[in-house]
Amino acid sequence: MTRWAKSPTVTAVNATEEDIQVIGKLVSELNEVLHGSGISIRQGDGDENEIRIIFTLKKSIPRLAEELGGHHVQEGTGYFVAYPNDRFEIERAVAVIGSELTGNDRRATIVHELTHTLGLMGHSPVFPESAVFASKTKTSSASRLAPIDRKLIRFLYLQLNPGDRWEEVRWAFETHWPR
Ligand SMILES: [Zn+2]
Repeated sequence: MTRWAKSPTVTAVNATEEDIQVIGKLVSELNEVLHGSGISIRQGDGDENEIRIIFTLKKSIPRLAEELGGHHVQEGTGYFVAYPNDRFEIERAVAVIGSELTGNDRRATIVHELTHTLGLMGHSPVFPESAVFASKTKTSSASRLAPIDRKLIRFLYLQLNPGDRWEEVRWAFETHWPR
């Protein structure tokens, strides 16, 4: 299991006013979900770079992704990379969003990539309403967290620890997953 063990600050680069608002809304939603975990997210406006969201032309994403390296998931219009230390604690993460995106595509991509940077690094093909939904042909159009995302994030931050192995995850799931 890989996740944050300290409270990160989110900073956006080349963002519009509306992007800042979308990020702000998601940050307050996440802080509600993270309540009791000891971790909270702060929206910064300076040089803090724990979580950086960069808006850039789609055509520059592959080169930027190559420069950023690390563990990443390549996607059509967005990208993210997380840098965990050897204790599986994420210390820094970068999300990249295609700046040509507009409307709900833009909002959904911000929510999708930012949710990834918290440690929900995979995709689910099962829950279409999830912010990290992706199937072979579609990706998430969710502009906010779904109940399943909220449950997963709470589980990851309240019941699991960085470095937990499969057996520990399974035990925690059987014991704590809300039904
Ligand atoms: Zn994704």
